[in-house]
Amino acid sequence: MTVYLVGAGPGDPALLTLRGAEVLASADVVVYDRLSVTSLLDMAPADAERISVGKQPGGPRTSQAEINSLLVDRGRAGQLVVRLKGGDPFVFARGGEEAAALAAAGVAFEVVPGITSAVAVPAYAGIPVTMRYSSTSFTVVTGHEDPAKGEGSVNWEAVAALGGTVVVLMGAARCRPICDRLVAAGMAPDTPAAAVQWGTRPSQRTLRATLATLADMDPQPPATIVVGEVAAANLAWYENRPLFGRRIVVTRAQPQAAGLAAELHRRGAEALELPVIAFEPPYDLDRLAQAAAEVGSYDWLVLTSPTGVVRFFDQLPDARSLGGVKVAAIGPGTAAALAERNVVADLVPEQYVAESLLEALSDEVGSDWPGRVLIPRAETARNVLPDGLAAAGWDVDVVPAYRTVAPAPDPDAAALVADAEVITFTSSSTVTNFVDSYGADIVPEVVATIGPITSETARSLGLEVAVEASEHTVDGLITALEDFFTR
Ligand code: SAH
Repeated sequence: MTVYLVGAGPGDPALLTLRGAEVLASADVVVYDRLSVTSLLDMAPADAERISVGKQPGGPRTSQAEINSLLVDRGRAGQLVVRLKGGDPFVFARGGEEAAALAAAGVAFEVVPGITSAVAVPAYAGIPVTMRYSSTSFTVVTGHEDPAKGEGSVNWEAVAALGGTVVVLMGAARCRPICDRLVAAGMAPDTPAAAVQWGTRPSQRTLRATLATLADMDPQPPATIVVGEVAAANLAWYENRPLFGRRIVVTRAQPQAAGLAAELHRRGAEALELPVIAFEPPYDLDRLAQAAAEVGSYDWLVLTSPTGVVRFFDQLPDARSLGGVKVAAIGPGTAAALAERNVVADLVPEQYVAESLLEALSDEVGSDWPGRVLIPRAETARNVLPDGLAAAGWDVDVVPAYRTVAPAPDPDAAALVADAEVITFTSSSTVTNFVDSYGADIVPEVVATIGPITSETARSLGLEVAVEASEHTVDGLITALEDFFTR
């Protein structure tokens, strides 16, 4: 089988190429290291083997010879091997040596180029590596060799003489000797210089200085150093994102957690997914199946969550039986879940809470009054809606469509949460389950909720709510967070 040498890009998982995503999705084995963007590992099949050949600075490392023979052995064994590498596999990544070893062993390989940090990291810091007229070339050099010891093979005189942009990779630890060397080779000490740490990630930090002063700022690896006129440019865009650098915990259930995390990520945040609820079938699935089969005998079908929609429609034997039934959704998320099944909600209340839905439904008094209403929903939920409808004379059937359960607490997650700045709660059960599983003490400073009911639950558990969405949707929650942090 083939061994793929895949460039993972510099850190932002969205910078993986389409070809990279394609081969990852069919990998039997993924061989990765520290700079190869570990979140991309989730794109490999769940049962793919994941082998770390971690090269932590100073820590234990797998030798290059060992990595080469690992790739050769697995390729020979007929496995589809993805060797994931930070940036581009052929830019200071020893991909050339791995390809040579595979070629010598007669193992088929393919190179999937990646976006190199040499260009993308400056770009994320708002630094173009070339500029018309002023910077007409860029040279990418390794900072791995100590220029002071004269052991290296980098021709610093030639690099300095070229007059374009100089990009130094692996140079954080030797920033001072490198800058000194460039000055000695003829570059002006006041030449703009920048170091971008953890570029393209929410932890990105850009240090701006000159050749004479950059080392005083003590850049930490991994950093990309840029020297030249362009390093004075500050066309910031990534670091300006509204939630840039914020560490935000997402507690809602999968798969919705991933959607919210992606939205936060798009705004520059680092989202930590820690689902504290999961959905299971109801104890009495037959009852749901029965209700779904008889849905045509109701006047209204009322859905109060996207999960309720999914579970109900899973049991619906024939879509035509919905024919004359009116459908109400508690909010736009639920309406969207209905729309995915080609059902347009007849009613969505102005406020996305049960009280509002009750009011809106009561206003709908028509010729079918008092109507029969079916409410497939979570096994445990507030009774505002069914009680209110029943009190108004409606014939109400509440049928459990799913149960929310708390997944086992994840001890590693607790440490991450303690470091986070914000926690989001999208329902009362996310709050109660979080506090049950992890305790109120590790709740991050900023508590953000989707609405007043969730806030009330949070307060009743001793939490202080800093952010509450005024539109009770996930988008509303994101907007509220943006407002909070731009204020
Ligand atoms: N093949 C990689 C480079 C490997 S050498 C590529 O094409 O990008 C490793 C060096 O790349 C680091 O020492 C650092 O200089 C740079 N680098 C990698 N990821 C980086 C990041 N997220 N931010 C800043 N520099 C990074």
